[in-house]
Amino acid sequence: MILNNDLVSYDIGPVTYSVSRIIDSKYGLKSFSSNSVKVIFDKIRTPLEIDTIIPFTVKATLRAYYESDNSPAASGILMIGDYKLYSEKDQPGTYLISYPEILPVTRLTGRFMVEGFNEIKIDKTIAHMGNIIIYLTAITTISALIIHKITVSKKPKTITCPRCGSTHYIGIKIAPNVWEYECQSCGKRWYVNK
Ligand SMILES: [Zn+2]
Repeated sequence: MILNNDLVSYDIGPVTYSVSRIIDSKYGLKSFSSNSVKVIFDKIRTPLEIDTIIPFTVKATLRAYYESDNSPAASGILMIGDYKLYSEKDQPGTYLISYPEILPVTRLTGRFMVEGFNEIKIDKTIAHMGNIIIYLTAITTISALIIHKITVSKKPKTITCPRCGSTHYIGIKIAPNVWEYECQSCGKRWYVNK
Protein backbone atom coordinates (compact mmCIF):
# COMPACT_ATOMS: atom_id res chain seq x y z
CA MET A 1 0.00 0.00 0.00
CA ILE A 2 1.53 3.32 -1.01
CA LEU A 3 0.41 6.69 0.30
CA ASN A 4 0.39 9.80 -1.82
CA ASN A 5 2.24 11.83 0.85
CA ASP A 6 5.25 11.31 3.09
CA LEU A 7 4.35 10.23 6.60
CA VAL A 8 6.85 12.54 8.20
CA SER A 9 6.26 16.20 7.56
CA TYR A 10 8.41 19.11 8.63
CA ASP A 11 5.96 21.71 7.43
CA ILE A 12 3.12 22.94 9.60
CA GLY A 13 -0.33 22.56 8.17
CA PRO A 14 -2.86 20.05 6.92
CA VAL A 15 -1.83 17.15 4.70
CA THR A 16 -4.39 14.89 3.00
CA TYR A 17 -3.54 11.24 2.74
CA SER A 18 -5.13 8.81 0.36
CA VAL A 19 -4.00 5.46 -0.97
CA SER A 20 -2.45 6.05 -4.36
CA ARG A 21 -1.61 2.49 -5.37
CA ILE A 22 -1.98 -1.02 -4.08
CA ILE A 23 0.52 -3.60 -5.16
CA ASP A 24 -1.13 -6.97 -4.94
CA SER A 25 -0.10 -10.22 -6.39
CA LYS A 26 -2.22 -12.50 -4.22
CA TYR A 27 -5.77 -11.41 -4.96
CA GLY A 28 -5.32 -9.84 -8.36
CA LEU A 29 -6.95 -6.54 -7.41
CA LYS A 30 -7.47 -4.36 -10.43
CA SER A 31 -9.13 -1.28 -8.97
CA PHE A 32 -9.76 0.28 -5.58
CA SER A 33 -11.33 3.28 -4.00
CA SER A 34 -9.60 5.19 -1.23
CA ASN A 35 -10.91 7.27 1.61
CA SER A 36 -8.72 10.29 2.13
CA VAL A 37 -7.61 11.22 5.62
CA LYS A 38 -6.73 14.76 6.55
CA VAL A 39 -3.91 15.04 9.08
CA ILE A 40 -2.67 18.31 10.55
CA PHE A 41 1.02 18.43 11.33
CA ASP A 42 1.32 20.86 14.16
CA LYS A 43 3.74 22.37 16.59
CA ILE A 44 3.16 24.03 19.96
CA ARG A 45 4.71 27.38 20.67
CA THR A 46 5.34 28.40 24.29
CA PRO A 47 6.50 32.02 24.57
CA LEU A 48 7.37 32.87 28.15
CA GLU A 49 7.20 36.30 29.76
CA ILE A 50 8.99 36.83 33.08
CA ASP A 51 8.18 39.84 35.24
CA THR A 52 10.84 40.70 37.85
CA ILE A 53 9.80 44.23 38.79
CA ILE A 54 8.47 43.26 42.24
CA PRO A 55 11.42 42.58 44.60
CA PHE A 56 11.89 38.98 45.78
CA THR A 57 9.06 37.76 43.55
CA VAL A 58 8.98 36.24 40.07
CA LYS A 59 5.79 36.29 38.06
CA ALA A 60 5.88 34.43 34.77
CA THR A 61 3.30 33.83 32.08
CA LEU A 62 3.55 31.02 29.57
CA ARG A 63 1.20 31.25 26.59
CA ALA A 64 0.88 27.97 24.72
CA TYR A 65 -0.67 27.86 21.27
CA TYR A 66 -0.80 25.69 18.19
CA GLU A 67 1.26 27.09 15.37
CA SER A 68 -1.15 25.90 12.63
CA ASP A 69 -4.05 28.16 13.62
CA ASN A 70 -2.85 30.10 16.73
CA SER A 71 -5.50 28.40 18.86
CA PRO A 72 -4.61 28.09 22.56
CA ALA A 73 -3.11 24.84 23.85
CA ALA A 74 -5.34 24.64 26.91
CA SER A 75 -5.00 20.91 27.61
CA GLY A 76 -1.33 21.08 28.57
CA ILE A 77 0.36 20.55 31.91
CA LEU A 78 3.24 22.76 32.92
CA MET A 79 5.57 21.05 35.38
CA ILE A 80 7.71 23.35 37.52
CA GLY A 81 9.69 21.00 39.73
CA ASP A 82 7.02 18.80 41.29
CA TYR A 83 4.27 21.36 40.77
CA LYS A 84 1.66 20.80 38.08
CA LEU A 85 0.16 23.90 36.56
CA TYR A 86 -2.96 23.88 34.42
CA SER A 87 -4.33 26.45 32.00
CA GLU A 88 -6.18 29.38 33.53
CA LYS A 89 -9.94 28.84 33.25
CA ASP A 90 -10.69 32.35 32.02
CA GLN A 91 -7.55 32.54 29.83
CA PRO A 92 -7.24 29.22 27.98
CA GLY A 93 -3.65 28.36 27.06
CA THR A 94 -2.26 30.72 29.69
CA TYR A 95 -0.20 29.22 32.52
CA LEU A 96 0.72 31.48 35.42
CA ILE A 97 3.83 30.89 37.50
CA SER A 98 4.82 32.71 40.68
CA TYR A 99 7.66 31.97 43.06
CA PRO A 100 9.94 33.78 45.54
CA GLU A 101 13.47 34.73 44.51
CA ILE A 102 16.21 36.41 46.53
CA LEU A 103 18.98 36.24 43.92
CA PRO A 104 19.78 39.04 41.44
CA VAL A 105 19.32 36.47 38.66
CA THR A 106 16.50 33.98 38.33
CA ARG A 107 16.31 30.74 36.37
CA LEU A 108 12.97 29.23 35.48
CA THR A 109 13.02 25.60 34.38
CA GLY A 110 10.14 23.31 33.66
CA ARG A 111 8.47 21.00 31.18
CA PHE A 112 5.35 21.59 29.13
CA MET A 113 3.39 18.54 28.10
CA VAL A 114 0.48 18.10 25.71
CA GLU A 115 -0.75 14.65 24.78
CA GLY A 116 0.44 13.63 21.32
CA PHE A 117 3.32 16.12 21.31
CA ASN A 118 6.92 15.95 22.37
CA GLU A 119 7.64 17.41 25.77
CA ILE A 120 8.82 21.01 25.58
CA LYS A 121 11.70 22.03 27.84
CA ILE A 122 11.40 25.41 29.51
CA ASP A 123 14.67 26.96 30.65
CA LYS A 124 15.13 30.69 30.92
CA THR A 125 17.58 32.72 32.98
CA ILE A 126 17.14 36.46 33.36
CA ALA A 127 18.31 39.29 35.60
CA HIS A 128 15.92 40.06 38.46
CA MET A 129 15.46 43.83 38.10
CA GLY A 130 13.51 44.31 41.35
CA ASN A 131 16.20 42.56 43.39
CA ILE A 132 19.06 44.34 41.60
CA ILE A 133 17.46 47.73 42.38
CA ILE A 134 17.00 46.74 46.05
CA TYR A 135 20.60 45.52 46.35
CA LEU A 136 22.06 48.52 44.51
CA THR A 137 20.05 50.87 46.76
CA ALA A 138 21.26 48.99 49.86
CA ILE A 139 24.90 49.04 48.67
CA THR A 140 24.66 52.76 47.84
CA THR A 141 23.09 53.54 51.24
CA ILE A 142 25.65 51.47 53.16
CA SER A 143 28.52 53.04 51.13
CA ALA A 144 27.18 56.51 51.82
CA LEU A 145 26.94 55.73 55.54
CA ILE A 146 30.50 54.36 55.61
CA ILE A 147 31.86 57.37 53.69
CA HIS A 148 29.95 59.71 56.02
CA LYS A 149 31.35 57.96 59.09
CA ILE A 150 34.92 58.10 57.72
CA THR A 151 34.51 61.80 56.83
CA VAL A 152 33.06 62.64 60.25
CA SER A 153 35.70 60.70 62.19
CA LYS A 154 38.56 62.28 60.20
CA LYS A 155 37.24 65.78 60.68
CA PRO A 156 39.50 67.51 63.25
CA LYS A 157 37.63 68.66 66.35
CA THR A 158 37.87 72.38 66.79
CA ILE A 159 37.04 73.73 70.19
CA THR A 160 35.33 77.08 70.32
CA CYS A 161 33.89 79.06 73.17
CA PRO A 162 30.23 78.15 73.59
CA ARG A 163 29.37 81.79 74.40
CA CYS A 164 31.32 83.91 71.94
CA GLY A 165 32.77 81.36 69.49
CA SER A 166 36.37 82.38 70.14
CA THR A 167 39.18 79.88 69.69
CA HIS A 168 41.40 81.66 72.19
CA TYR A 169 41.20 79.57 75.31
CA ILE A 170 43.26 77.83 77.95
CA GLY A 171 42.58 74.14 78.69
CA ILE A 172 43.44 72.34 81.92
CA LYS A 173 42.98 68.64 82.57
CA ILE A 174 41.09 68.48 85.84
CA ALA A 175 40.20 64.78 85.92
CA PRO A 176 41.31 61.67 83.90
CA ASN A 177 38.68 62.41 81.20
CA VAL A 178 37.61 65.98 81.90
CA TRP A 179 39.13 69.19 80.63
CA GLU A 180 38.24 72.66 81.81
CA TYR A 181 38.48 75.49 79.35
CA GLU A 182 38.51 79.19 79.91
CA CYS A 183 37.81 81.60 77.08
CA GLN A 184 40.43 84.36 76.77
CA SER A 185 37.99 86.65 75.00
CA CYS A 186 34.92 86.58 77.27
CA GLY A 187 36.01 84.65 80.32
CA LYS A 188 33.46 81.83 79.93
CA ARG A 189 34.42 78.50 81.49
CA TRP A 190 33.24 75.13 80.19
CA TYR A 191 34.02 71.47 80.55
CA VAL A 192 34.72 68.84 77.91
CA ASN A 193 34.75 65.08 78.44
CA LYS A 194 37.26 63.21 76.32
ZN1 LIG B 1 34.25 83.47 74.93
